[in-house]
Amino acid sequence: MYEGAVQDLIDELGRLPGVGPKSAQRIAFHLLAADAADVRRLADALTEVKLRVRFCEVCGNVAEGERCRICLDPRRSAAVICVVEEPKDVVAIERTREFRGKYHVLGGAINPMDNVGPDDLRIRELLTRLADGEVQEVILATDPNVEGEATATYLTRMLSPMGLRVTRLASGLPVGGDLEYADEVTLGRAFEGRRVVSG
Ligand SMILES: [Zn+2]
Repeated sequence: MYEGAVQDLIDELGRLPGVGPKSAQRIAFHLLAADAADVRRLADALTEVKLRVRFCEVCGNVAEGERCRICLDPRRSAAVICVVEEPKDVVAIERTREFRGKYHVLGGAINPMDNVGPDDLRIRELLTRLADGEVQEVILATDPNVEGEATATYLTRMLSPMGLRVTRLASGLPVGGDLEYADEVTLGRAFEGRRVVSG
C-alpha cells in the first residue's frame, strides 16, 4: 500500500480490463517518472474521449455525433449488416477492406457465467433495424469462442422467421479467440467464405 494519490492511481488503473495489481503498480510508477507534458496528454485524452465520444444511435459503434462515420457514409450498402460484439471488432473488419455494408454492435455476447443474457445486448435494436425490409443479409461475426457461438445460434433462431439471408463467418479463425486477434488476411477469407445458416 502506498500513500494517498499514488494508491488512488494504482486502484483506478487496477480496475481496467486486463490490468492486474502488478501492472497497475508498474504503470503508476511509469507515470510518476514521466514528463508532466506526457501525463497531461494522457489525462486530456481520457477527458476528451468521455466528453466527445458516445455510441451511435443506430449501430452502437463509437461515434463523435449521434451517428457514426459508417452509418453516415452514403457509399456503404444498407442491404448488408454485419453483427459484431464490440466496436473494436468493427475496426478489425474495416482493416480487411472486404466489407462495404453496415454494422450492428451488440455490446457483448451471451454469457450465462457473467449473467449476460440476450436482453443485455442490443438485439432489440437490431430487430428494429431489420423491420423495414431493406436489409437482405445479416452476417454474424461474433467471436469464434463459446459465448460468440451461443450468441450467433441465438440470433440465427431469432432471424430465421424474417426471411432474410443469415450468414456466419467461415471457420479458419483462431478458435477460442477474439475476432480482433485474427490477421487481416484470415479475417478477409472468413468473410469471403461465410456460410449461409438461414434463408
Ligand atoms: Zn453507426
